[in-house]
Amino acid sequence: MKPAIFFLPGEGHSNGPGHPEGLRRLNTLDHLFRRLAAEGKVTLSDQWKEDPESFFRVYEGPHLQQYLEGLLSFPFPSGGIARLDPDTGFSLGSLSAIQATASAISTLLQSRQQAGGLYFLAERPPGHHALSGRAMGFCIVNHTAAIAWNILRQDPEARVAVLDFDVHHGNGTEEILRGRDRFLFISTHQYPFYPGTGSGRDNSDRPRGEGILDIPLAEGTDDSAYHKILREQVLPRLERFRPTDLVVSAGFDAHREDPLGGLLLTEETYHVIGNSIRKLDCRFIASVLEGGYNLEALSRSVEAYLNGIGS
Ligand SMILES: [Zn+2]
Repeated sequence: MKPAIFFLPGEGHSNGPGHPEGLRRLNTLDHLFRRLAAEGKVTLSDQWKEDPESFFRVYEGPHLQQYLEGLLSFPFPSGGIARLDPDTGFSLGSLSAIQATASAISTLLQSRQQAGGLYFLAERPPGHHALSGRAMGFCIVNHTAAIAWNILRQDPEARVAVLDFDVHHGNGTEEILRGRDRFLFISTHQYPFYPGTGSGRDNSDRPRGEGILDIPLAEGTDDSAYHKILREQVLPRLERFRPTDLVVSAGFDAHREDPLGGLLLTEETYHVIGNSIRKLDCRFIASVLEGGYNLEALSRSVEAYLNGIGS
């Protein structure tokens, strides 16, 4: 199956000048996706309609209603960029970026109900640090948590796993979905490191594999060490849980060339992860772009991942 790409560059969203999370990340990926589409490796999806209702439909539940309402009525300084936390900007265009992503997620959830599928959401701002009631770490709303939450709400038969391989712990996703039935959260991340959570202390394991599996990685972890963890910890837990649906927080800042992270992975690992996911035989797989701040490494890593996950 070819991955369908949902491309949401969030042109109006800005964290301010010099910030690593900027529009040029998605401009780089735009070139990549066009080339991969021309080579017949992905399809570019432009099927979603802008639907203002989808903002609450998608994000309420995972996020508190009052938090979402506060974003909609945010008092912007004239022409400036507000800070929702020390790392996270909120500009006049941020809301329309988020609303476009909500519309795309709504379409994606409808497609899932009809036919399952394989999707890659390339969006800004990213989401996995956003908590139920607070923005954090470049993230305002949590797309991965919202997709998983809505699948669990819509489908009583679904078993949903989230895999987060960003260099940073997916603390927001974990906070929002902790304790849910039919749900497994797995995160591999550098530790100790931002945001300070994910030591493994909160891990839990129910008889059918539900729960939390945080796998902290020491600075300097390389491809071969990561492959061993994937083989010995991540995949056995996923195989035991038997997800019908997999949502991936696909961050590429564990790459050795990334300026923010301290891990030493290469694009080979992203190919291996993609290939391993493909073999899980889930009916629906949605990957959501998180980090990745060296533009060339990001592009090579996303390409390797898509080559691994597609067939
Ligand atoms: Zn990250």
